[in-house]
Amino acid sequence: MIIVTEAMCEKIISRSDAFKSVESVFSAMARGDAWNFPVVREAIGYADALYGFKSGFDRAGLSLGVKSGGYWPGNMKKGLTNHQSTIFLFDPDTGQLKALVGGNYLTAIRTAASSSVSIAHLARKDSSVLGMVGAGHQSTFQLQAALEQRAFKKVVAWDIHMDNVSRLRDIAEKNEVEFQAVDREQLGEQADVIITITSAHEPLLMKEWIKPGTHIACMGTDTKGKQELDPELVASASVFTDEIAQSISIGEAQHAVAAGLITAADITAIGDVINAVHQGRSSDKEITLFDGTGVGLQDIAVASVAATLAEERGLAEKVEL
Ligand code: NAD
Repeated sequence: MIIVTEAMCEKIISRSDAFKSVESVFSAMARGDAWNFPVVREAIGYADALYGFKSGFDRAGLSLGVKSGGYWPGNMKKGLTNHQSTIFLFDPDTGQLKALVGGNYLTAIRTAASSSVSIAHLARKDSSVLGMVGAGHQSTFQLQAALEQRAFKKVVAWDIHMDNVSRLRDIAEKNEVEFQAVDREQLGEQADVIITITSAHEPLLMKEWIKPGTHIACMGTDTKGKQELDPELVASASVFTDEIAQSISIGEAQHAVAAGLITAADITAIGDVINAVHQGRSSDKEITLFDGTGVGLQDIAVASVAATLAEERGLAEKVEL
């Protein structure tokens, strides 16, 4: 088996590799060629940590694996990121361990690829203003990837801690795009595409603030109880997701479903749009919403590419178990 370190992943996996592998696995999921296994996530009763597994099998891409890790809130003080994960890849023909791949950078780049795939398939082609709600660790990856999907002329951003938005300003400036720190209502007024990537547990964007024709990629809500949007906004939008079962249980749609405003039948897998089974956006006035909950197959897909590239380039360390 091989070991692919975090540093190697940063060197060899491009945003375009991540985009292609995430788009392809969403397509395989919608065709029924790839599936995620039930997620395990538990408080371990030590160090305030949440620990779990996300796993799946892609029969089309022949990738089998598990991402193991979680959230250690005290890590920042130790100079480490709070989210920690490692991806294990197995040979689907024999069950033998094929690769151990660092999962921290890959989590960020696959999550950014997920919202980017939604923008590529659902946002209006003439979208020119990008709104960012949340300016934490994931947000810079989200912003850089999104800027590559449309000819954005301006970025507007808000975070509950406004000091944080300077990291988004830096990325916008690097990309020669105008930047403005705004309040949430101004953000809704201006933005054609909005990415939410916070750890909020209450609605941050209200229905009446959002323009017709906006595309929202809601990426922060990945656990029961988290929330970023007004359920009325979710109910008024055409809702797409990576995986419907997760969208209604741990994703943003959980709240609109619990309020009886929508059901699972109102939600479309983004893979159906990629596969041209669903038309996606139907008009320039429609609000589209992508509920990006994060599935194990995304991690396995990008880790498989990282393992293949690391091996091809002779970078990976080979170890006998
Ligand atoms: P982070 O802690 O670095 O940043 C969180 C941001 O949210 C900060 O800027 C913070 O100021 C803001 N925030 C916190 N509470 C808020 C509130 N009540 N209202 C408004 N803003 C608030 O975290 P991160 O690593 O950037 O992750 C952000 C979120 O994305 C987390 O909820 C994480 O679990 C989620 N996430 C989702 C996926 C996915 O696949 N969908 C993948 C990775 C992370």
